[in-house]
Formats: sequence, C-alpha cells, structure tokens
Amino acid sequence: MANVILKPGREKSLLRRHPWVFSGAIHRVEGNPASGSTVDLLSANGQFLARAAYSPASQIRARAWTFEDEAVDREFFRKRIRSATEMRRKSNVESHANSYRLIYAESDSLPGLIVDRYGKVLVLQSLTAGSEYWKDTLADLLLEETGLAVLYERSDADVRELEGLESKAGPLRGSLSTFQIPITEHNLRFLVNLQTGHKTGFYLDQRNNRLRVRELAKDRDVLDCFCYTGGFTVNALAGGAKSVLSVDSSAEALELCKENIALNDLPAGRHTALEGDVFQLLRRFRDEARSFEMVILDPPKFAPTAAHAEKAARAYKDINLLAFKLLRPGGILVTFSCSGGVDAGLFQKIVAGAALDAGVEAQIIEWLSQAADHPVSLHFPESAYLKGLVCVKK
Ligand code: SAH
Repeated sequence: MANVILKPGREKSLLRRHPWVFSGAIHRVEGNPASGSTVDLLSANGQFLARAAYSPASQIRARAWTFEDEAVDREFFRKRIRSATEMRRKSNVESHANSYRLIYAESDSLPGLIVDRYGKVLVLQSLTAGSEYWKDTLADLLLEETGLAVLYERSDADVRELEGLESKAGPLRGSLSTFQIPITEHNLRFLVNLQTGHKTGFYLDQRNNRLRVRELAKDRDVLDCFCYTGGFTVNALAGGAKSVLSVDSSAEALELCKENIALNDLPAGRHTALEGDVFQLLRRFRDEARSFEMVILDPPKFAPTAAHAEKAARAYKDINLLAFKLLRPGGILVTFSCSGGVDAGLFQKIVAGAALDAGVEAQIIEWLSQAADHPVSLHFPESAYLKGLVCVKK
C-alpha cells in the first residue's frame, strides 16, 4: 500500500477526525497509488493517522475511510453500510416514508457515496475517486444488505469534474420498467423521475419541513417559490390552504407538480402553476400590490462554497425582502438556504436585514433543518447544509 506523508503540523485535522486531506498538506507520496486506491496517511514523524482513498486529480487529495489500522475491503464496506442502514431503522424514517437517504457520504463515514432509496429502487451517486474505485463492490453489498434488486446510478453531479471523473447515469444492477415512480411521504404520494429529477430525483431532505408547511397552511393564500415538483405545494393543499400559487422556471417540474396534486386527489381548482423567474415575478407581484398569507422560499444552492457567500447573500436578501413585502400582517414566511457556503448564523442575519429593509417587524417561530436521514457527523460540520426559518410578520 502506498503512503501519503503529511507536512509537519498538518495532521491536526485528521486527529480531530475530519476526513479530508488537501494537496497543500502533503509532503510526499511513497509509491504510485492509482486513482481511488487505498493509501495510508502518515504524519511527518511516521505516525499512522488514517487509511484513505487517494484522489490524484482533486484538491482534496485524500479522504479517510477509517482512522483505525484496519483492512479496507469488502467486509469493511459491509459494516459501514450496515451501520448506516441501522441508523435509519432506529430513526424510524420508514414509519412515515418509503423513500429516504440510506447513505450520506462523509456523515456515514463513506466519503463520496450517496445512496437514496425510492420505494424498492436504490439510487447511487458516486462523487469521488474513492467511491468510484469501490463502486461495483458497493453496488453488490447494497443489494445484499437491503434485499433489493434494482440499483440506478445518478453520478451526474458537477462536482465529479473536480475529481477528474466523467458524468455517468444509468442502471447499475437490475432494470427499471419506468423512470417515473410513485413514492410515499407522510401519507402523501409524489411522482419522482429517477432519470431527469434533480439530485437523485427528489428533495428528500425537506421531508419534515413539508409536513410543517402542511400544518401551517390551513386557510391561507400560499405562494410557493421554487416549487420544483410541488413538495410544499401538495402539502399546503393537503393542509387546507385556500389557494396555492406555485412558481418555478422549469416547465417539466411544474407539469409533475400538477400531476402530484391529481395523484393525491387535491383540489386543482385552488392551484395555479406559473412558469417564470422568481426574482422577476416577486417584483411583478409587488408592483401589482398582490399579497399572500404564506410565502415559501426554497431556492437552489446560491453558494456552493464560502467563496460565493457574498453574491449569494445579495440574492437571498433580495427574495426575502420581496417576500416580506408581499406578506399580509400575520403572514408566515418559510425561508430556506441549502448553500453550504452560508451557515445558519449568516442566513439568519440576511433574513433579518431583509426584514429591516422591507420595513417589516417579524418574529422567528421555528428553526428548520435537514431530516434525520441526512445526519451530520460531528467531525464533519460541512454536511449541515440545509437551514430554514419560519417567521411571522407582525
Ligand atoms: N421546494 C422544492 C425544491 C426546490 S429546488 C421541493 O421541496 O421539492 C429549486 C427549484 O428552483 C428547482 O425546481 C429549479 O427549477 C428552480 N429554480 C432555479 N432558479 C429559479 C429561478 N430563478 N426562478 C424560478 N425557479 C428557479
């Protein structure tokens, strides 16, 4: 096995069990490790620190599989998968949804590997050289451990480029009779397109927040911005909203949103779908003096990293300011950020700034985050990415 020897003092983050080693921390590499193969990480004085996947094309040159001196082999990965599966079982997610994240990369000590379960289908996303190297073994183990037969690959995320990996999608094990499958979440059904849907198909991380919107939407006129396939829209209608206006720039997503309303026998007469740019539409609604009793803002990731935080902050402030203006007194703003580059503290400051500039008094009544099937390793705080605020306008 090849050795990667760190510069003096650069072992500190590994000693705190953070799994990443950046290229600048490396003094030298002994041997000629292949992309994704397993290497030993050693401190400058030769102390064993971790066993890791080597990623020659990436700035994150190595990601620790384990901090113990143990074999990284098929049985190792079986144990990891079993432990992730067990955690989901304990968290009881299956009692209210048949679709959830089974493996969440670094937070389940499996850097680069994401596996989501949609009913009887598993969807795998391999994001790093290490998860790519072990992909076939992981695919076999996932079926063995879950007793399922179909595994579809959606390794088509942009971040693969940073690892020197090409985009890949298609069946890995078994085959799908259709790409569009119905899933169940808190007694509602949603159609998920496993081939063209965002991420692996659905925003599973928002599951509990959608339920919360259902509880809060009763008798309200709701505006659901960035509605995608209607996760929040369907819940608002199910919760007895007076009306729901759903906005997204994707016609395909809006089509599926309407199908999801029909699938749940919800009153289509209370729903309007509008294709367009939220930034422009919110301005138009303001100019037309329209108002709502609940506004949901769930935009795409404006800041993938902290380097984009400033520009992202302006975009978040813009939509939140407009949303505050469109709310009637007593109205509720449910606002999210899924940007890793904007932490919960900064997000709250941005929303506070938006209220101030809108000339609005508001209170936070709840802080929201990602569901339990998207855990956060205490040693890898980067995996806490989703934050939300429920604010009431005075
Ligand atoms: N709330 C959704 C997930 C939202 S994902 C759920 O719970 O399932 C973000 C959505 O924003 C995507 O559907 C994307 O098509 C849409 N989008 C991105 N930029 C947009 C813009 N400027 N205006 C309108 N929609 C946009």
